[in-house]
Amino acid sequence: MKKRYRDYNAHLREIFGQRVQKIAVDAGLTCPNRDGFLSTGGCIYCNDKGSGTQAFDRGLSVKEQIEAGKIGAIKKYKAKKFMAYFQSYSNTYTSCRHMKSLYDEAVSCAGVVGLAIGTRPDCIDVEKLDLIQSYAKDYLVWLEYGLQSVHDVTLERINRRHSYADFSRAVALSRGRGIYLCTHVILGLPGEDRDMMMETANVLAQSGIDGIKLHLLYVVKGTRLDDLYLAGQYQCLDQEEYVDLVCEFIERLPKNMVIQRITGDPHIEELRAPDWAGRYRETFNLIQQTLEDRDSFQGKKCGCLEK
Ligand code: SF4
Repeated sequence: MKKRYRDYNAHLREIFGQRVQKIAVDAGLTCPNRDGFLSTGGCIYCNDKGSGTQAFDRGLSVKEQIEAGKIGAIKKYKAKKFMAYFQSYSNTYTSCRHMKSLYDEAVSCAGVVGLAIGTRPDCIDVEKLDLIQSYAKDYLVWLEYGLQSVHDVTLERINRRHSYADFSRAVALSRGRGIYLCTHVILGLPGEDRDMMMETANVLAQSGIDGIKLHLLYVVKGTRLDDLYLAGQYQCLDQEEYVDLVCEFIERLPKNMVIQRITGDPHIEELRAPDWAGRYRETFNLIQQTLEDRDSFQGKKCGCLEK
């Protein structure tokens, strides 16, 4: 079934003409929303692994992590080119000198053609952007800003400790540098209804970003969201609702935006709820089928009606 949206693999193939595999890297950094600078609790859905692999704590250097990841990618996809994805915590929350040493180590690995750097919108400045831009001359560079929602009331509720204005400022500073910008969004956040989620889609459609990752809010054991869930104060989306929301969200995004993800993929041993969140492939396929059944496609409600 042909995808009804522009996915990440298609984007990488357009540039490199072949499969390029993303390899997650844990650089051993932290996050100002965890280390006490902003708070110690973090976002209510985040556990102390900060979406990471914990590879750094196991003593693996950036290079060792990439070389290990390449083995699996070559075996599974016959990939010859790779993106080093600095995923865990906030990967610009350190000095420029440290950032440079991490990125230099990554691009020194054979076959690495790009960097993807995940961070918070309040952890960036001109000096850091100048450094990141210096890699964009020779490598594909994606900078990924966690946002989750355009609504400040929600950001406060989930303890993000930054505002939508912080995100807008980061995007304005980052644009025009040859760096691709991606934003992370979560559907099903506490207190958000359908209209609020669709407003996030509409606002981001106009924001000048190049890509987006859509995630389901699932409950990870031991988080503050887990406490709310166990106390009956948070109810998860059901699978049908989520699929419906994703399809409508995609329709509102411009056709050229790269949709890097359409749902999350939790570690099963950490997952409290909903149980269907652990069936990634099933949800992925349901979204494809629903887009097909509705004749729905990216850009359908964004003023561009070509497929
Ligand atoms: S910003 Fe990211 S790493 Fe930091 S607490 Fe929130 S989800 Fe966790």
